[in-house]
Amino acid sequence: MNGNEKQTAAQGSAPLLLHIDDSNGECLYSNAATQAYEGVCDAQALAQESLGRTDSEHSGLARLVRGHYRVGRTQLVEKATGQHEVFDTVSIPVKEARTGADAICTLMTPSEIKSHEMPTSKAETYDSLTGLASWNLLHQRLAHALAQLQTEHTTPGALLVLNLDGFGLINRVRGREIGDTVLRIAAKRLLSIARASCTVARIEGAHFAALVPELNTPPDSQARYVMGIAHRMQLAIGADPIVIGDASYEISVSIGVALLRVGDISANEMLREAEAASARARKEGGGRIVFYEPKLQTYLAERLEITQSLARALETKELKMFIQPQYAHDGTVTGAELLARWTHATRGVISPAIFIPLAEESGLIERLTHWSIEVACQTAFELRRLGSTHPLSVNISPKLLTNHRLIDFVRETLARTEVPGSSLMFEVTEGILIDDVELVEHHMQELQKMGIRFSVDDFGTGYSNLVLLKRLPLSELKIDQSLVRDIPADLDDIAIARMILGMARQLNLNVVAEGVETLEQAKFLWENACGSLQGYLMARPLPIAHWLEAVRTGRTAPGQANEKPGKDQKLIPSC
Ligand code: C2E
Ligand code: CA
Ligand code: CA
Repeated sequence: MNGNEKQTAAQGSAPLLLHIDDSNGECLYSNAATQAYEGVCDAQALAQESLGRTDSEHSGLARLVRGHYRVGRTQLVEKATGQHEVFDTVSIPVKEARTGADAICTLMTPSEIKSHEMPTSKAETYDSLTGLASWNLLHQRLAHALAQLQTEHTTPGALLVLNLDGFGLINRVRGREIGDTVLRIAAKRLLSIARASCTVARIEGAHFAALVPELNTPPDSQARYVMGIAHRMQLAIGADPIVIGDASYEISVSIGVALLRVGDISANEMLREAEAASARARKEGGGRIVFYEPKLQTYLAERLEITQSLARALETKELKMFIQPQYAHDGTVTGAELLARWTHATRGVISPAIFIPLAEESGLIERLTHWSIEVACQTAFELRRLGSTHPLSVNISPKLLTNHRLIDFVRETLARTEVPGSSLMFEVTEGILIDDVELVEHHMQELQKMGIRFSVDDFGTGYSNLVLLKRLPLSELKIDQSLVRDIPADLDDIAIARMILGMARQLNLNVVAEGVETLEQAKFLWENACGSLQGYLMARPLPIAHWLEAVRTGRTAPGQANEKPGKDQKLIPSC
């Protein structure tokens, strides 16, 4: 449909929607027709006051046009009645009449989208939060672009996967409503600079994608050209902070790029490539643009292989549980943390820092956690037989607390192994607040009723500490080892550690410092009334059987439990 036809359609029976947003995506003006639709503009009154114009005056907007029309994608808009209609959008850069500020005027006319693009359902085709294309539609268009490239020898395009860095934090600290607003504004900003042929989608969370089906540039300048597009997208979203109420959010964007190419490649593989590049961009510190390279493929293949063998390791004996004791000032054992160890048949020892995130991504974490709880209960049973009742700490991944299966499993396992819930301490990270807070809180309370206690792992590295402390049934904080590491050299870390210890005292929470390796660190922590210490200085993680033997023979004092104590472990810190 060309511009004139759009106008004709707009003047016909279907409504023409018109709204003007400022550069923050805040609505300055919308016409009366938009009132019948949700999410087009919520602030008509404000707009009229700001622009001093009425609906009938919008034809005068043409005079405000500075740049050229941008014909946007189809957009799904929800009516107040709950029905949905599909519109084509045309965005025009304008100056706001009174202040002269930059704004975007968007005209929306009923769409004539081709039947193969017609949404089968709203959820499948459009993202309800932002109105952008959904993963499904992106996938469909990507497959189409790849097929065209194969058969019609068009010039290749590019797929960009964008991630809003630090979004998780905003969502956690400010709540989901603000998080959603940030996503909507970012989506609008992204859309405002995208070319007509470009499909802009939201994949999930703060993950967006842009498909540029054709680059129309010679092969040797493709990468530079896409780099330019990616830069523009970063600037569009992140150049100005997103202002919501009186808070302002600086957003940086990580972008992964995969160039479309002729060959035996599916849309799924293409998406994986761009995702992998985007993950690398995030890993490199955010705000980066990373192009997919085959090297990343090897990295991905390796991860896949590890994930698959982890599933097998859960069946076999490759996965073992180690234990690391925690000590009070007088050298008595106050608790012990269970830490998984994996000795792969050919790769050798694989660190949990590698396989736990893979288990989380693949869903294997549930089985792994059930196994840890089972081992914890059996070990607690053995320890109690030996007269030792200290709790065993089990690491629990945040996602599991949103599902009732964990609670059912714990209840059943405690009953079967005949150990009280007080034998278990669940270590959770601040990530538990990313998902449904009410549900997580409810599940924690159910577990608490069984006698289970909660400890906040890696405390001091996030920002939602106070929200967490106030809201959840906690009994312990673990000072993260990154803070302990530089004690007593780093004054900032000392100040944070002191603050955490002071705050915990006020709130009646026990504090465990982890990663304690030196006498200086131990001395500082004891002087500041830290409840317990855990670290190589006192004991390295050791096989459970060795710990049971140490308890049986009364050799649990700091430095004694390890089979082969390290040099510094002969030193017992102030105990
Ligand atoms: P985390 O929960 O923060 O565990 C503490 C980590 O610090 C462990 O690493 C432990 O071996 C290490 N550590 C203990 N003392 C010292 C010390 O003095 N110096 C230093 N530099 N490190 C010390 P590990 O065992 O490699 O585990 C890494 C992470 O993997 C854990 O961090 C935890 O998040 C996760 N993890 C380990 N086992 C499990 C498990 O069974 N389930 C789950 N969900 N996560 C696990
Ligand atoms: Ca832990
Ligand atoms: Ca930790």
